[in-house]
Amino acid sequence: MPLVDQYGRKIEYMRVSVTDRCNLRCIYCMPPEGVKSVPHNEILTFDEIERIAGIGAGLGITRIRLTGGEPLVRRGLPVLLGRLKRIEGMEQVTLTTNGTLLKHQISELVSSGMDGVNISIDTLNEEKYRKITRTGRLGDALEGVEAALGFPGLHVKVNCVPLGEDEGEDWVRMAALAKERHLEVRFIEIMPVGTGRQYSGPGREKIYETLRAAFGEAEMYTERLGNGPADYVRFPGFAGRIGFISAISHPFCDTCNRVRLTPEGYLKTCLQYGTGTDLRKLIRAGADDREIEDAFRDAVYNKPACHCFPDKDTEQERPTGYLETRNMSGIGG
Ligand code: SAM
Ligand code: SF4
Repeated sequence: MPLVDQYGRKIEYMRVSVTDRCNLRCIYCMPPEGVKSVPHNEILTFDEIERIAGIGAGLGITRIRLTGGEPLVRRGLPVLLGRLKRIEGMEQVTLTTNGTLLKHQISELVSSGMDGVNISIDTLNEEKYRKITRTGRLGDALEGVEAALGFPGLHVKVNCVPLGEDEGEDWVRMAALAKERHLEVRFIEIMPVGTGRQYSGPGREKIYETLRAAFGEAEMYTERLGNGPADYVRFPGFAGRIGFISAISHPFCDTCNRVRLTPEGYLKTCLQYGTGTDLRKLIRAGADDREIEDAFRDAVYNKPACHCFPDKDTEQERPTGYLETRNMSGIGG
């Protein structure tokens, strides 16, 4: 029986956050200091993650994305990736990273079976990159991209969360990465989660119009590509596609296929809500696979119908139920 929720949505994709820690401090994701880290003994071990993933696979999870915090700060990540990849029924294991440590680990990740990597870079302006990440060096992230492109079979995406309204030049430079290179550049709308509430970004229409003025009329993709909610276009002569993910202005809740596993082992069924189930508690209380399966299935069944982030135009909060208050780094973006 496939894993479905009460609204008939099939859940087959799980984002697994392996740590809440990060080597950067992006302004919309974490405060500059005073971040209380989850104690090590409360973070799932590799054995626990593998067990949950195996149970998930038995229920119908076929794809996993490793994320964080910064997943590459967790020691031995390629080993975990290989273990997840070997689970029966697991078709894809991918990674989302800020890319700054990627060049040192890419070979091991690829030999462990990594199917794709998303690298987050919000601007190609060095100074702005430093301001946004507070501590990062753009060159390190770009070296990560180049290292990933050195593996021809690997699916590489660059994720950009634009923050300013008038940064057309930045968007054009960012999109141009996909002109010569076989990678996707995706513009992701900022979400009012944690410190992200203090920021807002441009609408996708504004970005698209700016890119159209620079590159010409784009070919639209109407069919869904990949695991996620991006809408894609391709500009003339481009090797790669440009995607837009706009959870607030263009919600995709009706086709949501995902759940999240937090570093502490909470199976979270919607980014905005605290709803889900504490799998670590069950595991550490000695639950057998059947009990964990039941909890997994129940949590998925009760997945909220839709997020209710405040409407950007009316600024009206429309929340119901128990809302998430943590930063994205703690949840696993
Ligand atoms: N550290 C890794 C990275 O930066 O890719 C993985 C974790 S990070 C939380 C995953 C993604 O979430 C990044 O692309 C980041 O830009 C995005 N993100 C963080 N806070 C966000 C927010 N408030 N709204 C939209 N995206 C956000
Ligand atoms: Fe770290 Fe990623 Fe959050 Fe930036 S977006 S602070 S790199 S977890």
